[in-house]
Amino acid sequence: MSYDTVVYVVSNDFVKVSSQLPSNKNRSVLVHTLIKELGLLASSEGDLHARLQPLRPTPASATDLALYHDRDYLEYVLNPKHFNAEGSPIDSAKAAEFGIEEDCPWFRELPAYIRLVGGASLTAANALVQGQATIAINWEGGRHHAQKSQASGFCYVADCVLAILTLKRARIPCLTDLVSPNPPLRKARVLYLDLDLHFSDGVSHAFQNTPGTPQILTLSIHHAALGFFPISELSSLPPSDPDPNFDPFTLSVPLSRGATCQTFFSVWTNCVERVKESFQPDFVVLQCGVDGLAGDTYGIWNWSLGGREGRDEEGIEEGSLGWCVNRVCHSWGCKTLLLGGGGYNSPNAARAWAYLTSIALNKPLSLQTPIPDHTFFPYYAPSFTLDVPPNNMPDENTLAYIEDVNRRFGWVCEEIRTRLK
Ligand SMILES: [Zn+2]
Repeated sequence: MSYDTVVYVVSNDFVKVSSQLPSNKNRSVLVHTLIKELGLLASSEGDLHARLQPLRPTPASATDLALYHDRDYLEYVLNPKHFNAEGSPIDSAKAAEFGIEEDCPWFRELPAYIRLVGGASLTAANALVQGQATIAINWEGGRHHAQKSQASGFCYVADCVLAILTLKRARIPCLTDLVSPNPPLRKARVLYLDLDLHFSDGVSHAFQNTPGTPQILTLSIHHAALGFFPISELSSLPPSDPDPNFDPFTLSVPLSRGATCQTFFSVWTNCVERVKESFQPDFVVLQCGVDGLAGDTYGIWNWSLGGREGRDEEGIEEGSLGWCVNRVCHSWGCKTLLLGGGGYNSPNAARAWAYLTSIALNKPLSLQTPIPDHTFFPYYAPSFTLDVPPNNMPDENTLAYIEDVNRRFGWVCEEIRTRLK
């Protein structure tokens, strides 16, 4: 049981602006309305389990965003003068240079969107650093493809990177000297764990091969197939044998089609938990993209919110998304930032993030919870319950492959420990 405060970054403006994101039109309003309708925002005085504290995002200034982003990129995307009344760029070569084209088009609310989404993850990270909460949530964050000077893959602002850079600045009292009134301080360690269907190229590239003692480790569990977005040299498995040129702080687990809770359980136990044990993070930034859940428009994985057992009241299956997030929030002992990400079946994204909010609060809702009657109720047909169950797609991740993954992570984890000594 946890008595910790959970911060939930939200405001009317934030939801309104986020709902205009072209790749996820109106998803934001569905997510936040469902969370409210399920009563997760109501924090009564007598409730000792946890408190959900709504926190308004402070819009990020250009200086805040320049903590990572290039000044030229910011000048371009934050300034509507580069676009005409129809939203087309005045100089299309310039727009292309900054990635404002194709899947990342200009939209009227873009400057406000960048400031609010970037600001929301910074607000959440600061709440953790300042001890206001042990878990902070920004479901509009997790924009893991955004680069320093380019929008990419529906992502215009590198909020994950900005949050990590903020957490990295925290100083942690050394455990060896807790009795002294002024224990010496050490640099914080941040584990970035990405559960989205897509590889976290923006974040992984930002922190690869950082000189000095590594403070940041990125681990992305993602789908890989020929030509599948994004193409990155960092998105493969670690080498099979120890390699001094390999950066053990930039990690990736590519999975094939149909990945189920069983596959995730194996990867979780043999890779994720071992990496966490070896790295000993103070903060975890958990990107909870939900485009790998069954029922997403991508239709690639067969992951689910609570697994097959989630269909009754008995609890949830090991390796399900809910189970993984519960592990991080309530067994790891780290301050945790929960971010959103992909998810193109908007009602399912709302179901998933509402359920994960209840997990963060340590008051998990039953997956059989009926969707309350509200404005968006018809969107939840035909089940009208909270569950996002698996389907019958076969899992193409073979036992031999999973064993190979696990074996490679054996030497990687040893290498992590050696480099941190
Ligand atoms: Zn994705």
